[in-house]
Amino acid sequence: MKHYRFPIDGTPEIGARTTLVGSDARHVRNVLRLKPSDSIILFNSSGDEFKARIVGFEAEAVTALILASSRPVRESPVSIVLAQAMLKEKKMDRVVRQLCEIGVTAWIPFFGARSVARPAEKKLAARTERWRKIAVEAAKQSRRLQVPRIRPAGDLEAVLAAADGFDLKIAFWEGAPVSGGWPNPGSSPDSVFLLVGPEGGFAEEEVARARDRGFVPASLGPRILRAETAAVVACALAQHRYGDLGSASSERRP
Ligand code: SAH
Repeated sequence: MKHYRFPIDGTPEIGARTTLVGSDARHVRNVLRLKPSDSIILFNSSGDEFKARIVGFEAEAVTALILASSRPVRESPVSIVLAQAMLKEKKMDRVVRQLCEIGVTAWIPFFGARSVARPAEKKLAARTERWRKIAVEAAKQSRRLQVPRIRPAGDLEAVLAAADGFDLKIAFWEGAPVSGGWPNPGSSPDSVFLLVGPEGGFAEEEVARARDRGFVPASLGPRILRAETAAVVACALAQHRYGDLGSASSERRP
């Protein structure tokens, strides 16, 4: 039987009861039509996974009994944060979903100088909520143990400040030399911060500002990618080079 997965807060003990509410409870009840004694998997943001059994339904809540806990390794050893300049609506939805599948730790939308999409504050708040829902769905889908954090949109300055203290900072720019560019640290980085521009690319002044704050401009090859393709390729390559996708970190390319 397929085990459905739901995020919870905290770290319940074995034998404790925990409650799902809101859309998760409705999903269990009305969509999946699970019954008391059915099993589900719960996970928290610290990387614990719990086997649980449904033991009761209340008006708006589902109670589950914790049967076992484990700590599978499904999160990358490197924390990858990607800041994406604002794109048109549907593209942002797709980018955030795919990045969550590839294993970003956090995603930060920001207004690039050439971002055409500039939603008003109220609309932006609704979209941020939507991206957070997408991150939860994608984390479930990919059986991740952590739901990626979706930060509120800011400007480039806020992004550069958020990148302070990261081991590696890479700004993807089609003006960077095609070969080289990707930093090749001697030891495995713990944290990598990636910057991807809007449909119209970064203004040179933005690249210069990022460089001043420790970002290395790097290429994604000789072809120009759409911004939403660039984000996915950048994240997959970072996970490959520094994280847990397809290469032991000891096999890092020169
Ligand atoms: N200004 C370009 C398109 C920008 S592509 C033009 O229209 O000619 C959108 C974003 O994707 C860029 O800001 C960059 O972050 C990333 N990108 C796309 N192709 C890239 C490449 N070959 N190398 C590095 N970054 C790339």
